[in-house]
Amino acid sequence: MISVIFNINGFIYVTLMVIVFFSKQRLRNTENSLFAAMLITSLIGCLLDSLSGLLYLNGYDMSNIFYIIIVKLIFAYYMVWDTEMFYYVVSISNLKLDDNKIKKATIFTAILLLLLVVILPFSISSVGDTVRPVGAAVDMIFFVSILLAITIMTVLIICRKNIKSKKYLPLFIYLFLSLIIFIIQNITGLLLMTSVLTFVNVLMYFTIENPDLQMIEQLNEAKSQAEKANHAKTDFLSSMSHEIRTPLNAIVGFSQALSEENLPESAMTEVKDIMDASETLLDIVNSILDISKIEANKLEIIDKEYSFRKIYDELVALTKARLGEKPLDLRFHYDDTIPEVLYGDKVRVKQVILNLLTNSIKYTKEGFVDFTVRSVIKDDMCRLIISVEDSGIGIKKENIEKLFTKFERFDEKNTTIEGTGLGLAITKRLINLMNGQIIVHSVFGEGSKFTIVIDQKIIATKATSEIEKTSTIDFVIVDATGKRILVVDDNKLNLKVASRLLETYKAEIITVESGFAALDKIGNGEKYDLILLDDMMPRMSGTETLQKLKALAGFNTPTVALTANAIEGMKEKYLNDGFDDYLSKPIDKMELNRVISKYLNK
Ligand code: ADP
Repeated sequence: MISVIFNINGFIYVTLMVIVFFSKQRLRNTENSLFAAMLITSLIGCLLDSLSGLLYLNGYDMSNIFYIIIVKLIFAYYMVWDTEMFYYVVSISNLKLDDNKIKKATIFTAILLLLLVVILPFSISSVGDTVRPVGAAVDMIFFVSILLAITIMTVLIICRKNIKSKKYLPLFIYLFLSLIIFIIQNITGLLLMTSVLTFVNVLMYFTIENPDLQMIEQLNEAKSQAEKANHAKTDFLSSMSHEIRTPLNAIVGFSQALSEENLPESAMTEVKDIMDASETLLDIVNSILDISKIEANKLEIIDKEYSFRKIYDELVALTKARLGEKPLDLRFHYDDTIPEVLYGDKVRVKQVILNLLTNSIKYTKEGFVDFTVRSVIKDDMCRLIISVEDSGIGIKKENIEKLFTKFERFDEKNTTIEGTGLGLAITKRLINLMNGQIIVHSVFGEGSKFTIVIDQKIIATKATSEIEKTSTIDFVIVDATGKRILVVDDNKLNLKVASRLLETYKAEIITVESGFAALDKIGNGEKYDLILLDDMMPRMSGTETLQKLKALAGFNTPTVALTANAIEGMKEKYLNDGFDDYLSKPIDKMELNRVISKYLNK
């Protein structure tokens, strides 16, 4: 009676386990397949054992062929389970055996044992309430169980170094419970072997390589591979953009210089077109650098005091310039309560708004573009609510969520509008870095509205003279007649561009192609008023050259780092290295003017 209760319980338990295990997605590996096979074997075993118990309790004739078949099937179940367990034990052991060979040996053994089960005779001995099969078949089962126990012990001894691994736990439990059951069976006559095997199986669910965990591991692996590939791509783009900056420097520099010449009108239009195109190219290169910096977590938000009004005015001017001949109604609304001096990263604030404005102009053929800035002030914080609305092509509902994914562009086949699909991805990440939000509302064919919300600390409600002073760019060309500027760059084209841009200042320009040549000249007593020193040069970098120059007695010429390395934080690095200032390539006319005014206006 007790055995039957145990078996029915085992059956219920194993059924639940089967449901749980098979309802989940699993990995197709040996361990899982083996475990699945063992579960099914246990389920059938419990069912047969419960059935035989119930038949016996109901006084069924034990010599009936049906009953004999059931008992034989139970024997078969033991043999299959034992061979499966044998396979499991060998496969988790450190014995580096050929998996295929073990599999074949296991199948062969199982077939042999099943044959023996069919052939060997048995009889039922019934004493009081308990019945037990006896005979050659039962002896064989006992013998196989002993063999299995010996195999298990051998494996445990061989693998004693890793014995703490949880996958060996079912083996210990199996040995321990088998021993207990053997004793109980001999004392009380209770048949509990099926329950033990079922219990070991249930336990194995928790100790085999967790299928979920393994799946997560595989997913993580795939994810990390994808991320690596993504980084490799971004790194490649980033180094390409870096390479592009050098020739771009020449294009920007020469076209700027040409635009200041007295050229015929048609030539001037073409020069302006070259300048526009190179500016677009520079925007793209900068976007790629930005996204690679963001992905490498190298982009920092650099908060300083700034005038938001100033940014707004610059944005209005830029929007008007970008509009060109397009017949759009530009509408600007500025909330005068916005405090004059805020604390934030003005470069990034301007960049994100400009991106929205540029997109609105790009994607609107007719109608309007509305740029509105409002504010909500609470204590010393100013919440800027910046919205850019247009009556343009709009965005399909299904595309809105993909909007901030890099390289994502919509209806690309039907558009001739230039773009990289990077702008909004950068915008979103920059806004996140500034702890702000961006909200999109768009109706396809009707127009879009992008709203940015960012909180900035209030420094002053009215502009201070300091901020005014630093934010106003006075573009006055300094007359540097009689001054000597040394330009050091390994690239001849870069030297030509620098010389051409410096011509405006009427200084004497001397160019050399390496740090060694610069050291020679200065070592020989030549005097200069300013040095523009490229950093990335073969054999001796600009930074190394500077160290050597500083070691020369009496050297105190202001030295400006000249580099295509436009990564954020570079300026600080060069100042730390001992440079007086920093200019990035392509050389910006305004920046060059600032540097010349600072060091040669004496
Ligand atoms: P880009 O403009 O360089 O392609 P963005 O990341 O700035 O890249 O924009 C991604 C895509 O979102 C664009 O290609 C365009 O399809 C869509 N989009 C962005 N802004 C607007 C807008 N104001 N109106 C319609 N579509 C827009």
